[in-house]
Order: sequence, then structure tokens, then C-alpha cells
Amino acid sequence: MSVKILLNEDEIPRKWYNLAADLPTPMQPPLGPDGKPISPDALAAVFPMNLIEQEMSTERWIDIPEEVLEILYRWRPTPLRRARYLEKALGTPARIYYKDEGVSPPGSHKPNTAVVQAWYNKAFGIERITTETGAGQWGSALSFACALLGLKCKVYMVRISYDQKPFRKLMMQTWGGECVASPSTQTHAGREILEKDPDTPGSLGIAISEAIEDAVSDESGKTRYSLGSVLNHVLLHQTIIGLEAKKQLEKIGEKKVDVVIGCAGGGSNFAGLAFPFVLDKINGADIDIIPVEPTSCPTMTRAPFTYDHGDTAKMTPLLPMFSLGHGFVPPPIHAGGLRYHGMAPLVSQAIVEGLLRPESLGQVKCYESGLLWARTEGYIPAPETNHAIATVIDEAVKAREEGKEKVILFSWSGHGLMDLMGYEAFMKGRLKDYALPEEELRKSIASLDGLPKPPIRKTGRW
Ligand SMILES: *Cc1c(COP(=O)(O)O)cnc(C)c1O
Repeated sequence: MSVKILLNEDEIPRKWYNLAADLPTPMQPPLGPDGKPISPDALAAVFPMNLIEQEMSTERWIDIPEEVLEILYRWRPTPLRRARYLEKALGTPARIYYKDEGVSPPGSHKPNTAVVQAWYNKAFGIERITTETGAGQWGSALSFACALLGLKCKVYMVRISYDQKPFRKLMMQTWGGECVASPSTQTHAGREILEKDPDTPGSLGIAISEAIEDAVSDESGKTRYSLGSVLNHVLLHQTIIGLEAKKQLEKIGEKKVDVVIGCAGGGSNFAGLAFPFVLDKINGADIDIIPVEPTSCPTMTRAPFTYDHGDTAKMTPLLPMFSLGHGFVPPPIHAGGLRYHGMAPLVSQAIVEGLLRPESLGQVKCYESGLLWARTEGYIPAPETNHAIATVIDEAVKAREEGKEKVILFSWSGHGLMDLMGYEAFMKGRLKDYALPEEELRKSIASLDGLPKPPIRKTGRW
């Protein structure tokens, strides 16, 4: 009757899995300002070439360097836990398993790619990395990674989180990172936005513009930019989650998974767990795979599939993805990590193909689920993770009603010990559900007018 299924260090996966090799319809390329597919060289000022190669790779399996494994052993393999106490509280015949990504030093899945990106940057001779952060998890993960590898780190943090979440900023500083509120007065992009709207809460799109501008304007050539989600290579690094989970399920004799769930902001923790199971689905397995987003930022469930920029200042190439528009400034709900305007191109194409079944949820139900989790399982989840938990509970209740012994697997993307202000607001009754009004959605996606539209390619098999 195990509640935690562990792997030894020597059982860690030694390759990452690349879904781009197996999608039934191929990925459409990123486009430059001229509307033509970009060459690797066009990205060379932003990312080191070794990561650009991974970004464009269609190899199915990519070796994890031995030195990277040495770093990952600090907290990996992570436990696969069984949520027996929640199962009991729900009276469900479903068996619920979760990958506990909260055991990393910064407390989420994000260091799985942060340490890898820092390692490849260092191998390429880079000395300083810039980035953006929403709720602060990515900024703290990259600061942690840079501390381990002896690199400098500069983080542009979305203003509203900078003000609401001082502890994440302090974590970054503890690991030696430098953190400024975005929009800042330190970049052209930031100053321009502050002039128009001095009281803006900021957004991930704005912070990305600032971090890229900072990196490409360093004349020494020793600074690059790093992104914590969305891009192919980031999702690739996260697949270690799902590959470990497969070994762990096998270890306790689970032969089949029925439902796979993860919350999705840019898509990385969801993809990390889900993509190895998407491969099984492509090969014929019957699995319901569900990414979950907030109703306040309904990228997968209400936005168009389009080419769009990853940032407000349009510095990034055009990516084929579901997008609310690069100018989208999300309402300030507490799940800060789920407020990005776009969705990872790999996740987006899998949705277009029909391999995934996206859902959206209001925050009240998510916090209710988080409290039930904390009072049964014990661990306090991140507000983002609560979106996955709420969906898990729905599926477990459905299994009870249907009298089915389903196996449900989900990504417990991080702990909420730095997010207790959100829990306080919920417990005091101050949180309301907020679905993005149709009018706002229409206004926001107007910024997509004139951008190229990718063809909708699907085989119709799912
Ligand atoms: C950042 C974050 C997310 C959302 O990011 P993805 O790239 O979609 O995974 C979800 N959960 C936690 C705990 C996070 O820190």
C-alpha cells in the first residue's frame, strides 16, 4: 500500500523526449518579421546556439549530459505519490497519483529547465542571463540555477507580483540574482509603456520585452536571455517528469493510465508530464489528457490558433500558438503563473490535432480544492497547481459516479508556501471568479489583425 514510489539516482532517465518527432502533422516554423521562417542565426543574439539547436530539433530522444544529471540529482528523481487520503475523502474508486515537483529547492518544476539552460549557456561561454518572471517562481528558479553554475542573473518581475510577493524577490536575492519591477525605467520598452500607463500592473509580455532588450544590447556578447516556459527546448527539459512517472507506475504494477492532468500557463509542467503519454496516445492508447487554465486567461479554450509574438514589444519571432494577443494584460488573479497570453506551440499543435482536451476553471473552485488537498494530503499546493487538483477531483468524482477504477495521474507543479496571501484572500472571502468578458477578449485579439494565420493541420484521428 505505497503512498510514495521512489526511484534511485541510477534509475533517472538519461534522455529527454521530443514530441516534435512524433506529432502526426508536423510543427509549423517560427516566422521572422518578413513572414518567412527564421534561420537559427536570427536567434543567435538571444539564445546560445546549443539551445537553438535543441529548439529546432526533430530528434525523438536527446541525451541529457552527465554533468546536467549530476546537478539534477540534488532533488531528482522526484517522488511519485499516491493521494490516498484525498481518495478516501472523496470516496472514489479512482487511484490518484501525482509527481511531486515541489521538492526542488525553489519549490516547483521550473529548476528542471533552469539548471539545464544555465549549464548550456555556460558551456557556450555566456556569463550573464536575463529573464522575466510573473509570480516569481521562474526568477527564483533561474537565480538558483545561476548560483550553482556561477553565472550572473537579472530578473524583470511583473510589477503586480513584485508588490504582492516580496518573498520570491528575497529568494532571488538570497541566491544572488538581481530583481527589478517591470515595466522598469532601465529599458526602452519599459520606459515607453510607463509613459503611456504609469500605473500598469505589468505583464509577462512586457517583462519579456525588457529582458530580451537587456540581453541583445550588451555589447560584450556575453549576455543571453532565458525563457521559463513555452519554447520547445523548455518543454523538452521538462519531459523528465513524465519519463520518471512512467518508470514509477511500472514499478508498482500500474499498467494503464486513464487520465493525465496538469495546469498550463505557458505549458511546460503540463507538457513535461504529459508528452510521454501523448506518445502512447499517438500509438493507440486510450488516454484523456487535460491541460487546465484559469477562466480569466482562457488561452486554450477561447483564443484563436494564430501566429503571434511572445512579447508585447514584438521582439520575439512569430510563433504558431493559441494566443489572446501580445498586448493582453491579464486581470490580477492570484495564480500568477497562469497569466501568459500564449500557449506553447507544441501544446497548441497537439490541441489542434485533438490529442488534448483543455479545460478552464474559476479561481474560487481552485482554492476550495487546494484547501481540501491541504487538509487531507497535508502539503499546501501553489495556486497554479490548484487548477490541476480541482480537475483531478472532478475526474475522481466522475469515476465514483460511474463506479470505475480509473488511474488518474497529475503534475503537482509546486508548493504554495510563498503564496499564502492568496489563501488568506480566499479564506476571508475576498476572491471572486472572473471570466474574461467577450468584449475584452475581442479587443485583445484585435492586436492579431494583419499577422499571418497558420493553416489548421489535423489528421482527424482524434
Ligand atoms: C510557473 C508555474 C506554473 C505554470 O507554468 P507552466 O510553464 O505552464 O508549467 C504552474 N505551476 C507552478 C507551481 C509554477 O511555478
